[in-house]
Order: sequence, then C-alpha cells, then structure tokens
Amino acid sequence: SLSERLQGIFSGLRGKGRLTEEDINSAMREIRLALLEADVNFKVVKQFCARTKERCLTAEVLESLTPAQNVVKIVLDELTELLGRTDSKLVLSSRIPNVIMLVGLQGSGKTTAAAKLAYRLKQEKHSPLLVACDVYRPAAADQLQTLGDEMGVRVYRGDGKDPVAIAKEGVQDAIDHLRDVVIVDTAGRLHVDDEMMEEAEAIKRAVKPDQILMVVDAMTGQDVVNVAAAFAERVDFDGVIMSKMDGDARGGGALSIKQVTGKPIKFISAGEKPDSLEEFHPDRIAKRILGMGDMVSLIESAVRVQQEAEEAETAKRLAKSQLTLNDFVDMNRQIRKMGGVRKLVSALPGGDKALGSGQVDEGALDHMEVIINSMTKAEREKPDLLNGSRRARIAAGAGVSVTEVNQLMKQFNETKKMMKKMMPSVDELSGKKGKK
Ligand code: GDP
Ligand code: MG
Repeated sequence: SLSERLQGIFSGLRGKGRLTEEDINSAMREIRLALLEADVNFKVVKQFCARTKERCLTAEVLESLTPAQNVVKIVLDELTELLGRTDSKLVLSSRIPNVIMLVGLQGSGKTTAAAKLAYRLKQEKHSPLLVACDVYRPAAADQLQTLGDEMGVRVYRGDGKDPVAIAKEGVQDAIDHLRDVVIVDTAGRLHVDDEMMEEAEAIKRAVKPDQILMVVDAMTGQDVVNVAAAFAERVDFDGVIMSKMDGDARGGGALSIKQVTGKPIKFISAGEKPDSLEEFHPDRIAKRILGMGDMVSLIESAVRVQQEAEEAETAKRLAKSQLTLNDFVDMNRQIRKMGGVRKLVSALPGGDKALGSGQVDEGALDHMEVIINSMTKAEREKPDLLNGSRRARIAAGAGVSVTEVNQLMKQFNETKKMMKKMMPSVDELSGKKGKK
C-alpha cells in the first residue's frame, strides 16, 4: 500500500542519519513512484514533489540533527495541504426544505451515500426525505426504498419515469410531510456522457439545490480526475463524498481531487452500514497515509537521536581538546543529572574530606551558567575571543563582577589543560600514530 511504501522510504532515510542532497533526491524519486502507483494524478504528483523537495533541500533540514524526521514532517504537511487542510463539514443553509443533490457515475455509491446522509441527518434531529430520481434501472428506486425503510426515512419515488418531475414533486412532498432536508438521488452512467450531464443540469434547474455533492468511488484511479472535471464544468458541485474507502483503494483519488477540482472532500464512506459515513479530516487522513503509529515512534526517536548526536559531538571536541564553553555548560548539566557535585565528589577518593572542608560549592554551577548565558554564540565556541571589553559586557549582562568572569575563564582554561593531558589524541583514538 501507499502507506507501507512511504514508511519504507522513511525508514531508509532514518537509517542514514545525516542526509545529503542526493539522499533527498532519491527519496523524492521513490515517493513520486509510490504516489503514481497509488493512482495519484501525475500533475498533482509533480507539484507535490516539487514543493516537498524544495522544502526538504534547505540547509535547515539537511543540517539538522534529525533530517529524516524533518522530511517526514514536511511530507505530512504537504499531504494535508493536498487533501485540503480545512475540515469539511456538511453545512445546511437556512432554506427549508434544504435540498442536497447527489451526482456521480453509475455504481459510484450515490444511492448508498444518499441513505447514509439521511441516516446522519436523522441522528442530528433533522427529518430527511429521500427522492429516487434514477428511473433507468428498475431496481434503483427499490434499492433506495429498502434503505429508507430500514432507517425509517420516507422515500419519494413518483411515477418512476421523468427524473426532473420526480425531483420537483419530491420537494413538494417534503413540504407536505414536514421534512426539512431533501436528498435527491440521481442516475449515473458508466461513463461521462452528454445525456447524463443534461439530466443533472435539468434537475439542478428544477430544484435549485442548496448543495450538490459528487460521489466518487475511491477505486476509480486516474480517471477520477477527468470525471470530476467533467462534472465540475457541466453541473458544478460543492464537495465530494469519497465512497468505498473501506476497500483496497490505493488512495490516489482522494489525494488528487482537491488539487484538480478545487472542491473539498466532505465525507468518506467506508462500508455497508448506514453509520459508515465519516466527516473528512485531511490531517487525520494524511497521518493515516503515513502510518500514524510510525509517526509517534519517529518523534520519540527524534529526541533520542538529537541527544546521541550532541553527546557524540561533545566527545569528539573533547578528544581534540577543543573544549567550548557550551561543553562546560553541558558538563555542568551532566553533573546535575548524576545527582549534583556533592554526590559526585563524595564518590571520589578523598571526596568526603573535600566536602567537609567546604571546598565544594553547589551554587557555583548555577552561577557559571548565568555568566555563560550572557555570552554570544561565537564567544562560547571560541573563548579566546574574550578580551577585556567583552568580559566587562558579559559581567554587566550576568549581573556579576568582571573578577567573577575572569575566575570562570581561569577555571575553564584549567579544565581544558587537564583534558588535554587526560585525553588521548585524536590520532590515537582513530588508531593512527600521531605525527605531530
Ligand atoms: P450508485 O449507482 O451510484 O447509486 O451506487 P450504489 O450506491 O448503488 O453502490 C454501488 C455498489 O457499491 C453497491 O453494491 C454498494 O453496496 C457498494 N457501495 C457503495 N458505497 C460503498 C462503500 O462505502 N463501501 C463498500 N464496501 N461498498 C459500497
Ligand atoms: Mg443509485
């Protein structure tokens, strides 16, 4: 499935750690193929990939510590955008009776969706009326009647010959029987044709629907775009009901329709039961496509990866004796995590004696951090920059005396010297004999 394909691509990216431009390019090629194979319209795929790639190829993403996670977030974001971003609710206008007309190809699921809509409206305390305007298939009106009877919803079927007349009479029937919403179920054809469009236009003129919903079979594939475009041009419609989302649809239709027609998906229909009509939430569907379970674990692992990378960086710099003031702050934090200076010192040989003599000042750590926080990024990374005027500025910023800043720097330089002595050289670390 599309979901599995995308998850595969992402786990490939995650395995790489740092990403190069080429990694992104090749992932985008795979995403492109996965979308095309899921029957997403090729123009939509092209736009989607161009936008996503552009956003992924920024330094911000490539140089971040968790590039793969950033890529997933961008893809999720763009998928949501593709699906329409805003939630699409069924909004009834104030006209009574309100008229909703369903259009779509034969077998797309109009009659089923009409019944589900009626069920939903009934749940919401409306009193709907179903009108059977499919006069071509003898069983069509019976099908609607059966569904209506099951739910206790009135069905108007007229003489079963003239769809335009039936639609008009249906509205009158609703008025006569105090129904506030009329759902007009129309006939479709297997393919887009003039006759079907003319009939839909005629019904539209006759009953002036408050909204027209196009029912689209999620399994239609690439052709969905042509069908929707044809309906948009001839009868126009306000939104889409995607039917058969419970089947093994490849998802392409849902991902293409908003972009191609500009019309939102309002409902997804997934199953035979009358209550299987869900409101459409683009963000939820996008997450479903990406596999939500995986997203959660991704975000969790992002935090871990970030920490590990930071630790590795610090270790590398320490090995090169390029201690920065940021490392100093990190070390302080580590000490705190391990239970504070007192606990650490007491674990050392002779530590208890030091503690007893009052040489250990827990508060010094906080003090140190305040001073380092007043430094610029450059100063923290290159402590050699810290001349007299900079030290004065830092002291003022931290609310301490220049002497205290000098003390901190002395401590820092001593630590650095000590580290140099203790740490093996980089060459030794990498197994080479040092030449310097
Ligand atoms: P219409 O010709 O547009 O009125 O389509 P129908 O409502 O008669 O549906 C055609 C077929 O698709 C019927 O067998 C329905 O039971 C089936 N169907 C419609 N909607 C769904 C759905 O959401 N899920 C599934 N699994 N089947 C559906
Ligand atoms: Mg039908």
